Amino acid sequence: MNTTTSVPAKPQATALGYPRIGPNRELKRALEAHWSGRLDAAGLEAAAAAVRSGMLDDLSVLDTVPTGTFSYYDHVLDTICAVDALPPRHRRDSELASYFAAARGDDAAVPLEMTKWFDTNYHYLVPEIGPETVFTAKPAKAVAEFIEAKERGLDARPVLLGPVSFLLLAKPSGDAPEGFAPLDRLEELVEVYVELLGALRDAGAGVIQLDEPALCADRTEAELAATAAAYRRLVADAAIVVAGGYGPFGEALPVLLEAGVEGIALDLVRGRSDLDALEALDVSRETFFLAGVVDGRNIWRADLAKGAADLARLQAISDRVGVSSSSSLLHVPVDLSAETELPEGLFERLAFARQKLAEITAIADPAGSRETRPSTPAAWRDDAVRERLAALGSDADRRLPYAERQAAQAERVPLPPLPTTTIGSFPQTAELRNARAAHRRGLMIDADYKARMKAEVAAVIAEQEKLGLDVLVHGEPERNDMVQYFAEQLTGFATTAAGWVQSYGSRCVRPPVLFADVARQAPMTVEWTSYAQSLTEKPVKGMLTGPVTILAWSFVRDDQPLADTADQVALALRDEVADLEAAGTAIIQVDEPALRELLPVRAASRAAYRDWATRSFRIATAGVRPETSIHTHLCYSEFGEVIDAIAALDADVTSIEASRSKMEVLADLDRANYRSAVGPGVWDIHSPRVPAAEDMAEALRLAVAALGPERVWANPDCGLKTRRYEEVRPSLEGLVAAARTVREQL
Ligand code: GLN
Ligand code: ZN
Repeated sequence: MNTTTSVPAKPQATALGYPRIGPNRELKRALEAHWSGRLDAAGLEAAAAAVRSGMLDDLSVLDTVPTGTFSYYDHVLDTICAVDALPPRHRRDSELASYFAAARGDDAAVPLEMTKWFDTNYHYLVPEIGPETVFTAKPAKAVAEFIEAKERGLDARPVLLGPVSFLLLAKPSGDAPEGFAPLDRLEELVEVYVELLGALRDAGAGVIQLDEPALCADRTEAELAATAAAYRRLVADAAIVVAGGYGPFGEALPVLLEAGVEGIALDLVRGRSDLDALEALDVSRETFFLAGVVDGRNIWRADLAKGAADLARLQAISDRVGVSSSSSLLHVPVDLSAETELPEGLFERLAFARQKLAEITAIADPAGSRETRPSTPAAWRDDAVRERLAALGSDADRRLPYAERQAAQAERVPLPPLPTTTIGSFPQTAELRNARAAHRRGLMIDADYKARMKAEVAAVIAEQEKLGLDVLVHGEPERNDMVQYFAEQLTGFATTAAGWVQSYGSRCVRPPVLFADVARQAPMTVEWTSYAQSLTEKPVKGMLTGPVTILAWSFVRDDQPLADTADQVALALRDEVADLEAAGTAIIQVDEPALRELLPVRAASRAAYRDWATRSFRIATAGVRPETSIHTHLCYSEFGEVIDAIAALDADVTSIEASRSKMEVLADLDRANYRSAVGPGVWDIHSPRVPAAEDMAEALRLAVAALGPERVWANPDCGLKTRRYEEVRPSLEGLVAAARTVREQL
């Protein structure tokens, strides 16, 4: 009789992926040097090898390291290349040239479309897949990076984006017939994946990680059935662990298990329900599970005791478990140690990628630290803010309905039909950026900097008067970034020295850290708006960033619901709105370009999101008198599930992207019961092209036909900060002329 009780093996420590831009954005610099012709391909490859080597240095504290998660630009583009599915228009004489043609476009071809990666601020390149796409296995990159790690003596686990997610993230190619869906090609693509997996196995790989983040979203029966078939085929000759990383697998969990995958990497930060589901399922004790207990999406230190407790729950289900990050660590900066200027108490509460690897190894080690998270310091609490919020009640709603407000606003600020305006920013010239850099480095004193910015405001006002616009803006020259500008002035936010996170390609952002209760210390924008208003008889719009966007583009405390944090930011903005109003500002725009970004991946969570997100906007804006007009701006036209939220913002005017979608968004807004005014963007500012006045007039006619003349504004579809005056002047001249033409025809 065997009397030994089985002692579970020590859990393996690993991570699902790692930041790939380098701790000091080394890859960014090399890429930009290469694109501008200052660094040849060999030089770029050497820089990339150094970045990968640094990644492996960091990752070598783990028992098993993920490989293949390096990228020159984007991991979805890497996958396109791994299955040789680049569109013909991007094929050049070298692989690297083709790669960058697809990523960035060139004289001969527009790039692949770029879009948001799930509910993050990362952007991926969208594969274009049609019936004509020929898939061929190109395993070189995956194999080389695997070997690089193996040659260092590391236990390496290759990572690829899985075939189901690859196709679900793709869009039909231009040649695809109506009704074609990229997922129709799954069976053929899986055969190519079998070859990729084979090449990795031949190189010595054991377990291979396939990322299937698309399975963290709601999927149809047909999609789940296709997933089941794909994985039954894939597991036939490879040991596959499937990772999601963006919430629970939900109904995909049993599908994957039944298909016979070797293992599953669970997101136990956002997808904890999977753990409950597993406990209710009949799971083989041989199934390998990774407990993703260290948050890959945020920068707070993990609660090691809680992580160990979750791990223990998994150990009760399986004999083969490991510990990992909840998602790739791509979404967090590399190293906290550069952050020496953080507010008291913050440093010891944060963990960037390197620190997270240490947390993972601690949780995996039965004798490792079990430190719980320190509680939020009392000094970070602002009772006045909390009491004001608790007392707010129905003050979060405008006092009168839109129709009555509209009449009062028209009386206060008489405007012609189809009033012309812009979205806020004017070109950020090299001279402005140089002044900002000099000021930041201490080479320009505050007074000089301010005088320089005021001169710019005056120039922007003069420019708009000359163009004949109806509602003016101050141009936002003083703002480094529409979120950071406010974060630097509110309490409760910290900025980092080197907390860079990849947004797309070589572009990195440094999100502020929202760590404590938020309050406004002093007016943040009133002086600028009032100064601009003092220069003109025309109305000048106040310009603020909304609470949801401030949250979306920051790292946000996770010790209370997001909704509570949003309300605090909203309350601070409410004070700013009140001060702008008191200073005589008749029109105040509160931008919410990230309203769609935070929309939960799963439909079941969306109603709650819509409620708190729109309420926070109303807290910020609803305190004004009926005759004060609230505008908002959203940067896109495909609202999908957030379309209902737009009416719930209860703004008086909403400006949106509409020119690319040929005003289709107007019908969507109508279906969603949006009844206030709309500024459908008639100039696509993301293109350097100067739009023809007649095209803008035609767009305005469409809008008038859809909404009636009293509900239409004429404006570009986004801010002008990235454009040059050479494009801005003729485009706005055309816009003003178009509005006049259509006005006369009313
Ligand atoms: N007011 C901002 C600007 O014009 C809006 C930017 C945005 O929509 N992202 O720059
Ligand atoms: Zn915009």
